Amino acid sequence: MGAVLGLWRVLKNAGLKVTVVSPTKYPEFYHWMDGHDEVINFSHHPKQSDRILTESDLMIFMDFNQLSRLGDMKPLVESYEGKKVLIDHHPYPGNFADLTISDITYSSTAELIFSVLQSTEFAQYIDRNAATSFFTGIMTDTGSFDFNVSNPNTFEVVAQLTRMGIDQQEIHSKVYDNYSADRMRLMGFCLSNRMKIYPEYHAASMYITLEDQKAFNFKTGDNEGFVNMPLSINGVIFSVLFTEKEKYVKASFRSKGEFAVNEVSEKYFNGGGHRNAAGGELYASLADTLAQFENILPEFEARIKQSLK
Ligand code: 5GP
Repeated sequence: MGAVLGLWRVLKNAGLKVTVVSPTKYPEFYHWMDGHDEVINFSHHPKQSDRILTESDLMIFMDFNQLSRLGDMKPLVESYEGKKVLIDHHPYPGNFADLTISDITYSSTAELIFSVLQSTEFAQYIDRNAATSFFTGIMTDTGSFDFNVSNPNTFEVVAQLTRMGIDQQEIHSKVYDNYSADRMRLMGFCLSNRMKIYPEYHAASMYITLEDQKAFNFKTGDNEGFVNMPLSINGVIFSVLFTEKEKYVKASFRSKGEFAVNEVSEKYFNGGGHRNAAGGELYASLADTLAQFENILPEFEARIKQSLK
C-alpha cells in the first residue's frame, strides 16, 4: 500500500486520473494513509472495479508478480485490453505485462518506484504525502530496517524522503502503535499455547485456529509480525506461522541468513516470496498442514545448518 498510494499521489499531482483497486481489504493500521479513503476494494465492489478497469488505458501492478496472487480479481485482469506495467521486487516475475520493472536488489517496491520516479519528469510531483507513503512501504518491508537492508540505496532513498519533511517517528507510531488489545492478547496466547520449537532444526512453528480468531475478535492484519517473534529465540533461524482460513491454511515463513524460505514455500506450500520472507497457501486441514511441515523439516536440515555457519 505504501508503494501504491505513493505512486497514486504522484500521478494525481501530475494531473492524471488514477484509481487504486485492491484485490481484498488490507489492515486497518494502514487506513490513516493518504489516499486510503479512495481505494476501491475489489472483493466488496467487483462491478465498480470492472467499470474502472474498462475505462482505463493503463494498469500498473505493484508488489506482486504472479496473476494467481490476485485471487478472484484474476479473470478481470486477464481480459483487460489496455497496457500493463509491472513494478515489483520479488524473484521470478511472470510474463504478463507490456513493461516489467523488476529488481530483487531493492528492499521494497516502494524504494524501487521512488528510484524509478526520481529519474523521470514525475520526480517534481513527489510531495510530502507521497514521501510518507514510500517511507511506510520501506519501513514495513524491512521490518523497521531490520532485514533486506544490505543495499545502501535504501538509506539513500530514506535520506531523500527525510529531506522532503516526513516524520519517521509519527509514521512508525501510526503503523506499530495502533493495534487492538485483542490482537496483543492473541499474540500472548499464541506464544504460550500455539508455538512449538524444533531445536534440532533451529526452527519454530506457530498456528492460529479459526476458533482462536473468533475468541480474540480477529481482524485482517492482526497476525502481522507474529511469524517474526520466534526468530528472537536463541538458536532459531527458521519460523513459520500457519493461519487457518475457511477453505485453506495461509503459511508465512521467515528465516535468518542464507536459508531460503521461498524454496520451502514454492515446493510445498504453493507460494513464493523472498529468501528470508515468504508465504503460501495449502488447501488442507490445519492438522495436515502442521504434519506436512514437520515431515519436510529433515529435508531442509542440512541447508538450515549450513546457514548457521
Ligand atoms: P507474509 O508472510 O508477510 O504474508 O508474506 C511474506 C512474503 O511472502 C511477501 O513478500 C509476499 O509477497 C510473499 N507471499 C506471501 N504469501 C504468498 C503466496 O501465497 N504466494 C506467493 N507467491 N508469495 C507469497
